[in-house]
Amino acid sequence: MQKITILPVILTIFAILQTGCGSHPEKGPNVLLITIDTVRADYTGCYGSPDVKTPNIDNTAASGVMFTRAVAPSQCTNPSHASMFTGLYPTRHQVLDNRTPLTNEAKTLAEIFKEKGYSTIGAVSARHLNSKNSNFAQGFDFFFECEDREKNAAERNKLFLRKLEEISDSRFFAWIHYYDPHGDYAPPPPYDNMYPVGSNYEPVPPQKTMNLNPRAKSKPVDPDQIIPLYKGEISFLDEQIGVVLRFLKKKKLTNKTLIIIAADHGESMTEKGIYFCHAGMYNPVLHIPLIMSMPGTLPPGHRVDKVISGLDIFPTILEIAGIDYAKDQIDGRSLAPMFSDPSYRNHLIVISEAVDCVIRAIYKDGYKLIKPYPTDWAVKEKQLFRPWEDYEESEDLKLKKPLVARRLEIRLKNWITSSNRKKLSSQKRKQLDPKTAEALKSLGYIE
Ligand SMILES: [Zn+2]
Repeated sequence: MQKITILPVILTIFAILQTGCGSHPEKGPNVLLITIDTVRADYTGCYGSPDVKTPNIDNTAASGVMFTRAVAPSQCTNPSHASMFTGLYPTRHQVLDNRTPLTNEAKTLAEIFKEKGYSTIGAVSARHLNSKNSNFAQGFDFFFECEDREKNAAERNKLFLRKLEEISDSRFFAWIHYYDPHGDYAPPPPYDNMYPVGSNYEPVPPQKTMNLNPRAKSKPVDPDQIIPLYKGEISFLDEQIGVVLRFLKKKKLTNKTLIIIAADHGESMTEKGIYFCHAGMYNPVLHIPLIMSMPGTLPPGHRVDKVISGLDIFPTILEIAGIDYAKDQIDGRSLAPMFSDPSYRNHLIVISEAVDCVIRAIYKDGYKLIKPYPTDWAVKEKQLFRPWEDYEESEDLKLKKPLVARRLEIRLKNWITSSNRKKLSSQKRKQLDPKTAEALKSLGYIE
């Protein structure tokens, strides 16, 4: 593992330059946060996929830091994004589904960068992330909403890059969210035929699918036909990420911009009998790609194998940008010390929370306990795995290791009690406008 000692010095320089800059930051890095909806880690090249082509994500990983054991704070889009933007777990920020807006009480990354004088732009590609529904626009000078059910990444890039061009002479914090790999899977040509469709037609009956994909809900589906389309969506998205990266290169901004690529959650293809949706709390859904790159500042080709969370993005970005934040007020912990010391652990435990916290997972010392409250269709009872040694999570160890299971259960219970004491005010679920209601219904999120 490469040992980089110059990094803390560079981070300190950024910090010194930031201090006292008031509303006109001169030297802090730009930040580009790219969130890729519904991309599981093992369906990208750099995380070990044998066939899915993701050259742009792979190159970004090669030029920077790749977190090989990153866990989604939630398996649901809005709660997971709220965690990335606040550094808080869902129990604390109280966005527990795709219909509850983030409270104004929350201090988001965009608000903090705006206060520091950065230009801030955001662009989302799903209706339930629109400001009215999510309140994620707080702190953004410009926030591109999604007028349709979802926005194709190529279309999204057009407006986003036009605005980024306008503000690229100033320091910027920019967020772009892409939705393409989310079901249903319909990549544009040539990505729809990029991966061969299997010839063994083994349909899954609709009653077994519990599927968010409306096409698959109404008739038997063949995983061999569907999985190639999901892969095609990821490769299409990767190409669109490449468009943004080439823009930065053309503007000579690559070395001045901290680039973060992170998924909000993954997707279950067939694993554990969960087909084409992000239910359950298993690796296909919770193990996400998380990559950070800034050539000349972050170490190239660096791998971090500690279990970390998507909510660590918040403190890490702020630390690299040299911006102070209330460390003891948030759940996230900066990943920056791991750039020079791979043995550093930023968390004793990592948690993930499902919609409405009906299931939680706790990771500690190589184990993962999944605990449903009280029962969920995808997970009926508590389960104990070694998720990194047994990636398929095929062996439930709760009977073999009852003490480990018990200890993790108690630890989780204590964590819930303590987090409940520190939660932000809860917002009421939104009365959905007809178009958003229709979009969520067609995605299977509401009846
Ligand atoms: Zn999502």
